[in-house]
Amino acid sequence: MSKNYNIAVLKGDGIGPEVSEAAVNVLQAVQAASGLKLNFLYGEAGYHCIKEYGTNMPKETIAMLKRTDACLKGPMTTPETPGAPVSAAVQIRKTFNLYANVRPCRTYPNVEALKPDIDLVVVRENTEGMYSGVEYEVSPGIGVAMRIITTEASLHIAEYAFKLAEKRRKHLTYVHKANILRVTDGIFNDAVKEVARKHSDVTVDDIHIDAAAMHLIKKPETFDVIVTTNLFGDVLSDEAAQVTGSLGLAAGANIGDTYGMFEPVHGSAPKYTGMNRVNPTATIMAAQMMLDYLGEKEAAAKIEDAVMKVLNEGKVRTKDLGGSSTTSEMSEAIASKVNAL
Ligand code: NAD
Repeated sequence: MSKNYNIAVLKGDGIGPEVSEAAVNVLQAVQAASGLKLNFLYGEAGYHCIKEYGTNMPKETIAMLKRTDACLKGPMTTPETPGAPVSAAVQIRKTFNLYANVRPCRTYPNVEALKPDIDLVVVRENTEGMYSGVEYEVSPGIGVAMRIITTEASLHIAEYAFKLAEKRRKHLTYVHKANILRVTDGIFNDAVKEVARKHSDVTVDDIHIDAAAMHLIKKPETFDVIVTTNLFGDVLSDEAAQVTGSLGLAAGANIGDTYGMFEPVHGSAPKYTGMNRVNPTATIMAAQMMLDYLGEKEAAAKIEDAVMKVLNEGKVRTKDLGGSSTTSEMSEAIASKVNAL
């Protein structure tokens, strides 16, 4: 019997519409090739809708998301002026308590990486830390941002990361700066150590954020699961994506207990808007992670196999991978491999 899913699609800003359409194209191929029924519901969100709605996340869109099983989100431009609405991604993460941001990074065939055998996942706490949105100018020229860290959220993310490590190579590294941020990272580290006691099959080590940034370049192949707080995880996952080849390949999942939102790690790259030249693979792999989250393992595997086949052949490659193929050619190549599987 075919399964039906309501999938929210938020195309986003800049290159968002191009890469989102490329991923929907591949999902449509998967739908035809496996008995899935995906009902796409398109919603408005992002910088471009502030003028019309006064916000980057209209309440109609939030209501629509609540009627769906998962969300595929294109990258969005974040307003940067004080008092402007916070990032749409942050609003979705908070509304649905999507506490785990999961960002796998691995080497791909025919993609130049710093080392050949990188296969790691950055698990980033997604609801608090430096992204709590509590920031003031207390007096002219003096600004304060709150880095809120709680035991509850730290236990939650640590549990998620340990369970993931148990399914992988059973090695977890927690990243912090407790030598300086003694209170906040003290709470985070204590929570990780508490959860570690329940997962004695996992080898645990820890490292300061500055050393982690260096080791990700020097010996990235030694990492398996990295768990850390919000801002450190954001920075490390972009770095890890580049170490393995290109931001254009890196996908991320935002997972809570009842909902999931899936997006590329990269942003809206405004200078490439409408040029049909960026790599859609990150958003296509975000769609793959979404199907995996929905329990559609076979359909998810089809996307992964198709991406690997296209990269292995090396005939269709976007500019970031050293080729000259367009966004739509890359999407078509992956979709036709899905059809052929
Ligand atoms: P960016 O990720 O948009 O782009 C940085 C560079 O990475 C690009 O100039 C390009 O060289 C490369 N790149 C990005 N995506 C690529 C792709 N698919 N294929 C090939 N190359 C790619 O980062 P930025 O310029 O710092 O941010 C632009 C906007 O995006 C900002 O407003 C930022 O806040 C926002 N942003 C949004 C998200 C999100 O929606 N989750 C994430 C990161 C940044």
